[in-house]
Amino acid sequence: MNFDQTKWVWMNGQVVPWAGATIHVSAHTLHYGSGVFEGMRCYETDAGPAVFRMHEHLERLYSSAEMYGIRIPYSKTELEDAVCETVRRNEFSSCYLRPICYHGSASLALHPRNCPVELVILAWPWGAYLGEDNVERGVRVTVASWTKFHSRTLPTTAKGCGGYLNSMLAAREAAAGGYDEALLLDESGNIAEGSGENLFIVRDGVLLTNDESSSILLGITRDSVIEIARDIGYEVEIGKLKLEDLLSADEAFFTGTAVEVTPIRELDGELIGGAKRGTVTNRIREAFLRAALGRDKRYAGWLHMVEPQTAEIGM
Ligand code: PMP
Repeated sequence: MNFDQTKWVWMNGQVVPWAGATIHVSAHTLHYGSGVFEGMRCYETDAGPAVFRMHEHLERLYSSAEMYGIRIPYSKTELEDAVCETVRRNEFSSCYLRPICYHGSASLALHPRNCPVELVILAWPWGAYLGEDNVERGVRVTVASWTKFHSRTLPTTAKGCGGYLNSMLAAREAAAGGYDEALLLDESGNIAEGSGENLFIVRDGVLLTNDESSSILLGITRDSVIEIARDIGYEVEIGKLKLEDLLSADEAFFTGTAVEVTPIRELDGELIGGAKRGTVTNRIREAFLRAALGRDKRYAGWLHMVEPQTAEIGM
């Protein structure tokens, strides 16, 4: 991925050229990770670009901010408009979107009381996060030696910048070992999640996933997949997941805005199920993409059209 196609950045209420979207080296968040952010995708639908579940992503941004005592200086409607404007100005038909709210420059005392709260929205085209081939083949995953931070350490349901150091260490370790992605365990040794994804396993046609009691970020893709799976008629159980559950699963997949629905092929060299995208994973992935692309009207409410619409979107 790269930023070559991004021309404009929304920054503190204005759209500025890419090269002008800079902050000072004394910004509080650069030193202490004291910001919160979101990752959303905008999909190309027949009725134009649409941001998938923008409402829920912005709700999570505000709730992450609240957990860190950050007051976002814009209303949700202002941010929705700002996100759409970022897509429009860059003339993207589909892209990844990254709103980030951070503390700017004023003081480097740990308490950021004097630092301005700033907000930036970046957009760029981003294909398959773990590789196009891996969407077919499934990813190779390793269990990280790093434990997912516990909610007594940092709020796990907040998407806080500093928390991603934990993910970054795990991702680097996985890459150094030749794997595509890391799987982090929680403090009790149960499965938490990938470095940037939630996990589902399929056993005897039933989907199983964990929840915030296993130190996960409550993913919006996870939530969408639970709803879609139940609509298809699958049973979805939510509870603790152990490594042996994953190793003995018929199928397993990651969910996340960046990875969408990506199958898991193996864990530390042990093949999962048939070691290829299973039929349940396939069905879920296809149904998810149909919803995101505006091709299933049951989920039309999940799409926020970038351009104001005069008629109902075509299905
Ligand atoms: N867990 C972590 C640690 C993540 O960074 C992400 C990506 N936001 C997810 C799970 C999946 O969340 P979502 O489906 O909302 O993108």
